[in-house]
Amino acid sequence: MVPKKDIKSLYRDELAEHMAERGEPSYRTDQIMEWLYERLAESFDDMSNLPMILRQHLPKDFELNAVRALRTRRATDSTEKFLFELHDGSLVETVLIPATPGLTSRSDRVTLCISTQVGCAYRCAFCASGLDGVKRNLSAAEIVDQVVQVRRRSDERIDNIVVMGMGEPLANYDNLMRALRIINAPWGLGIGARKITVSTVGLVPRIKALAAEPMQIRLAVSLHGTTDDVRHKIMPVNKKHPLSELIEACRYYRTKSGRMMTFEYILIDGVNDGLDQAQRLGEIASDLRAKVNLIPYNEVAGLPLRRPDAGRCKAFQRMLKTHGVTATLRREKGDKIAAACGQLRLQHTADEEGAADVANGSR
Ligand code: SF4
Repeated sequence: MVPKKDIKSLYRDELAEHMAERGEPSYRTDQIMEWLYERLAESFDDMSNLPMILRQHLPKDFELNAVRALRTRRATDSTEKFLFELHDGSLVETVLIPATPGLTSRSDRVTLCISTQVGCAYRCAFCASGLDGVKRNLSAAEIVDQVVQVRRRSDERIDNIVVMGMGEPLANYDNLMRALRIINAPWGLGIGARKITVSTVGLVPRIKALAAEPMQIRLAVSLHGTTDDVRHKIMPVNKKHPLSELIEACRYYRTKSGRMMTFEYILIDGVNDGLDQAQRLGEIASDLRAKVNLIPYNEVAGLPLRRPDAGRCKAFQRMLKTHGVTATLRREKGDKIAAACGQLRLQHTADEEGAADVANGSR
């Protein structure tokens, strides 16, 4: 038997081709797209302006829902966490974050942080997502459906998407880009490309590939160290793509795409929070005209790393400012859950006790 396709992995043209093969008029494609991405249909049966025979046919060829909401929890800091089950029983998390200064260019916007892999292969020292390695890539539909399902369940309008959940987005490049095109398309979820930020630990060839993409998405590079010895200690990816290569790729990206970029920098006590690192980060960011997001580390039981005190964080930020670099120091409230790809999952665990179940969803 031919496996069914996830309908949310299809571009409009691909669905149109399927409709044409069935002899359906072309406006049926637009009707279905509207049901998928505007009216957020939960079943093909809901698509009430389609003829009954088509409504009965669609589930034979397509899956409608790629992820199933198991649980929604509102944390004490007003972020809202969605736990999704995939068809193979794997779990991923998606977080809705209200008002997050420093994460995006506007401070009064709602941001959704989405996942792209089950687990992660990169084993950053500050992150739980990499502890068990990577299980698999998410399909494009599984990425898109996180946004659809949150829209369906939340009263909040989603203004920004950050691809900083579980996994390294650029390690799942093709599915990621397909998903982002659907999220961005006027016939899809219609979220502006400049409102979408993709984060990476520094996969050099993929940063260069991203530079050639016509979509104006934003890039955030998780730097977390400005010398190879510091980066080696906390980010094993640095052995494959050392700092000099990464900076060269960032320069290529800036020049080729003309787009601004951001460096994410988790401040970890005694590891990467010295003024020598700040000085070097100031030089790198100033040279690339990049913005810096400083994220004081969120301590989590089980990992030996510590958060620097507020004075050290401020001194680090001041040093960046002397280089003329725009540097945001994340506030505690609301920001902690979305600190970085792996930090997200860590913080979820830490928030469990203070969280309250607010809803149960179904596929
Ligand atoms: S921080 Fe990101 S890239 Fe590093 S292990 Fe965690 S999920 Fe993977």
